[in-house]
Amino acid sequence: MQAVRIGICGLGTVGSGTFNVLRENAGEIAARAQAPVLVVHVGARRDNPACDLTGVRVSRDIFAVATDPEVDVLVELIGGTTVARELIETAIRAGKHVVTANKALIAEFGNELFALAAEYNVAVRYEAAVAGGIPIIKALREGLAGNRIEWLAGIINGTGNFILSEMRDHGREFADVLAEAQALGYAEADPTFDVEGIDAAHKLVILASLAFGIPLQFSSVYTEGITGVTPQDLRYAEELGYRIKHLGIAKQGDRGVELRVHPTLIPADRLLANVNGVKNAVLVEGSAVGSTLYYGAGAGGKPTASAVVADLVDLARDLSAGQISRVPSLSFCHESLQDLPIVPMAEVETSWYLRMEADDRPGVLSRIATIFSDQGISIEALIQKAPQAGQTRVPLIVLTNRAPQGKVDIAVQQIEELDSVAGRVTRIRVEVLDG
Ligand code: NAP
Repeated sequence: MQAVRIGICGLGTVGSGTFNVLRENAGEIAARAQAPVLVVHVGARRDNPACDLTGVRVSRDIFAVATDPEVDVLVELIGGTTVARELIETAIRAGKHVVTANKALIAEFGNELFALAAEYNVAVRYEAAVAGGIPIIKALREGLAGNRIEWLAGIINGTGNFILSEMRDHGREFADVLAEAQALGYAEADPTFDVEGIDAAHKLVILASLAFGIPLQFSSVYTEGITGVTPQDLRYAEELGYRIKHLGIAKQGDRGVELRVHPTLIPADRLLANVNGVKNAVLVEGSAVGSTLYYGAGAGGKPTASAVVADLVDLARDLSAGQISRVPSLSFCHESLQDLPIVPMAEVETSWYLRMEADDRPGVLSRIATIFSDQGISIEALIQKAPQAGQTRVPLIVLTNRAPQGKVDIAVQQIEELDSVAGRVTRIRVEVLDG
């Protein structure tokens, strides 16, 4: 059994987790991989006290790992899309296989990296890039390979889910919970990627490519964050029998593919509605299997390391079988990838939750109802809250049937122009997610 020699670049949360999981579970890993999987070289700007690097070569220059003839597989765990891309390209050109947890890099430059890897006959694996420890990429690429994937929907950002769960459970404001998430280490110092949906969009793009056989296309995703969701919306949604979750949704239909990340009301009894805190979950609808749900830790050092090490074991097995490209990078073989059209958001149909502040006087409701009916939008439920003492405006919550966003945009604009309605109308999509 020839050992598979690993070089790890980046010894932060995931890097140190990976180093330690490889050490702690070395026996099981070697038995499964049919070869010892040994870390021989670490590239890190500084030591990490969580890792005992005795006997391991350490370089402050990570590129020394990428060109080290003693390294078979480079594990990129530095993050970002500039140095990380250069590092991976250097490793590929030096004939090394690559494992990464870097969703931003795969979502934005995966097409180029996979092409380069094919040219050099090496593999690029990225299980840890989506939903941390949940083996969703393996499930889509292998376990569901007999299905036409109809759609998938996922809670794929733990920070956003933690914030919405806390706001719902304790009626807290967004900014307050965000500060706690940062203190607990769930959110980055710059939380933009998490709360604006960019991180979820990176992951959705990867899932959609694997599910539908389309090239990676980050710029095609519609992305809306959770900063506009208020405790009132979470409470009103609850009264209507729904929960608000930040979902990444990819659907394949007659008109093409929908790719969208946005807050979504889902019926409170659905499994996804009950995924709370920092947990992740992905629901996949396959033509043969029906609905399957994948749930677990979407982040954290060891859960993410679990996925990185699974890739290393797979790679070791493929190396021993001499079959590096047994499973195509994006599940479908490269020649079969199709540039399917992306459905414009104006044409995407969902039901809608709309909240507005309206004057509490006769005629206002019927004016609003007329605007909806003029756009062919039917109202499924309408709640008018009682006015607080001394207030002339009341919150009005409307739940519509399915309607294309373009029609809803027109209706909302007309409602916002009414003298009897104050400020902006809050709108959140509603999905039933029937399997
Ligand atoms: P992290 O804790 O910030 O660790 C990154 C490490 O890389 C740091 O130790 C950093 O060193 C080092 N580094 C960055 N640039 C470097 C360079 N040019 N040369 C040498 N070292 C460099 O990040 P992480 O949370 O482990 O994330 C790593 C990757 O995993 C990212 O792509 C992330 O998206 C992905 N990921 C993370 C999680 C998670 O739960 N954390 C889950 C899934 C995927 P310094 O400390 O010196 O800056």
